[in-house]
Amino acid sequence: MQEKLAELKARLLEASDLQAAAAVLSWDQATYMPPGGAASRGRQLALLSRLAHERATDPALGKLLDELRPYEERLPYDSDEASLIRVARREYERATRVPADFVAEFSAHQSASFEVWSRARPANDFAAVQPYLEQTVEYSRRLADFFPGYEHIADPLIDMYDYGMRVSTLRPLFAALRDLLVPLVEAIGRQPAIDDSVLYRHYPEASQLSFGLEVAQRYGYDLARGRQDKSAHPFTTKFAAGDVRITTRVNEHDLSEALFSTLHEAGHALYEQGVRPELEGTPLGGGTSAGVHESQSRLWENLVGRSRAFWTYFYPRLQAVFPEQLGGVSLDDFYRAINKVQPSLIRTNADEVTYNLHIIIRFELELALLEGRLAVKDLPEAWAALYRQYLGIEPPDHRDGVLQDVHWFGGMVGGVFQGYTLGNVMAAAFFEAATRAHPEILEEMAAEGRFDTLLRWLQEHIYQHGSKFTAAELLERVLGGPLTVEPYARYLSRKYGDIYDLRS
Ligand code: ZN
Repeated sequence: MQEKLAELKARLLEASDLQAAAAVLSWDQATYMPPGGAASRGRQLALLSRLAHERATDPALGKLLDELRPYEERLPYDSDEASLIRVARREYERATRVPADFVAEFSAHQSASFEVWSRARPANDFAAVQPYLEQTVEYSRRLADFFPGYEHIADPLIDMYDYGMRVSTLRPLFAALRDLLVPLVEAIGRQPAIDDSVLYRHYPEASQLSFGLEVAQRYGYDLARGRQDKSAHPFTTKFAAGDVRITTRVNEHDLSEALFSTLHEAGHALYEQGVRPELEGTPLGGGTSAGVHESQSRLWENLVGRSRAFWTYFYPRLQAVFPEQLGGVSLDDFYRAINKVQPSLIRTNADEVTYNLHIIIRFELELALLEGRLAVKDLPEAWAALYRQYLGIEPPDHRDGVLQDVHWFGGMVGGVFQGYTLGNVMAAAFFEAATRAHPEILEEMAAEGRFDTLLRWLQEHIYQHGSKFTAAELLERVLGGPLTVEPYARYLSRKYGDIYDLRS
């Protein structure tokens, strides 16, 4: 059996190296590649993805996994080896269920749809993308049908990003959240608006970058095993346990953009840098689901990076970097500015309170499209109706409405949005559990700008395990039960009740 296990590990390591090679090419494409490299880079990435798919679906791999089943069953469920075989089998089964022809056809359609969308969005032209989106809904349904036995047609699609999550558990969770958020947004809207103009003064790029990276390092992001570069859309990528990179983008007239995107990506990177090195090169070697990953970026971006405790220590330092811009602005005014709540049209610019309503709207619309209750041609009207209902605003055009996100136009319909909100809800639950176990976390942050107790707790309970446990298993282990909105509700009402003086 040891020989078979060694063979499995060798095969999985090759698959992981192919993925890492593709990730290096993608990172380069997004950071330093001159435009002239685009055509051949596309071809090179397609080759690597074909090779990776061939290996991932090799019948010899399936045979090996079958032979290892009795061995796996004798091992404890949470041992590294049983987890390795279990997760490798799950991935093998998923990869082999979907015929290669379908994968190629859908992927060609996704590229075509993306091309049309990237011209249609600036032109505000929904009619141009409508036939493509209709086909995407069809492809997404067919993709789900390769996984028969589902409860809801979106479940197999959700599985691809948040394995084990179901429409039947997400619907009540999101409904509870909506019932909490809609009145909170209304109550905030009745209070005087916060003046956040201080954030839009001129902040030179170099100082923004060095301050953000310094905070990321204070968080524990290890630059001997990482680096930061600029890209149009910030992201985190991993080539090895010893090479986890982040990117950011800078706007010299908006202090929040680089700073909070850096803290967000640093959270993703801390998770990846914290996986036990023994799991490297296996399917266990990275974060476990979209939602859990996003919980870490959100935790470090918002629960830490937008907290009063954090800025009690770091605001004088930021003032020293930008004395002309911030010298005369009090900590309290700055704290309120970075936590301003205001319903807006664009998801990616939304504040902590309204953000999840953008996701809930998309989630409800996806389900309606997949279930056939909503036709693509009626999508813009349905979109506007939900924005009116939940946020009290309405997009004046498609550009800042239904066309704003790439997910449906370059990917699929279903599965692609729930992770963001799961992440926010989980972040609050994890942070509450950590600060309950170690009340000194906030004090260390405020008095010394230290995060080691928090980071150690996260490493011990979440990061080290990589993908050994599903999100649901991890939540059960860490929180002792399934995810609820209560910790998030407590967090939001305490923080924003204070900022907006909502207590009567
Ligand atoms: Zn993220």
